[in-house]
Amino acid sequence: MEEISIPKKLLSMEPGGKRKLSRPKPRWKMESQMGRRKSNRKPPPKRKAIVPLDTQFDCPFCNHEKSCEVTMDRVRSSARIVCRICLEDFQTVTNFLSEPIDIYNDWIDACEKAN
Ligand SMILES: [Zn+2]
Repeated sequence: MEEISIPKKLLSMEPGGKRKLSRPKPRWKMESQMGRRKSNRKPPPKRKAIVPLDTQFDCPFCNHEKSCEVTMDRVRSSARIVCRICLEDFQTVTNFLSEPIDIYNDWIDACEKAN
């Protein structure tokens, strides 16, 4: 609390107790505000979603890397993931937000529940 109180020496220097209300804004403050507004206008960083999504995942059964491929059937709201090495497969329902990684995660979940 003490740091915001004005020293009495400064107050006594003002003649007649006049207050200067029209204090110019400190320039640094305006510039920092402008800079902040400017940075908001920057385009957001490019998302990885623009590049084609990875549809190949490691197999939880035979542990081959990238051997499981997801096939999305948007029309029938289903998806299938199958391992081309051990031919394990898994089918699940999808929604329009589902991505191949979701199908894979569903598969992993189903495997963990089965065990
Ligand atoms: Zn496999």
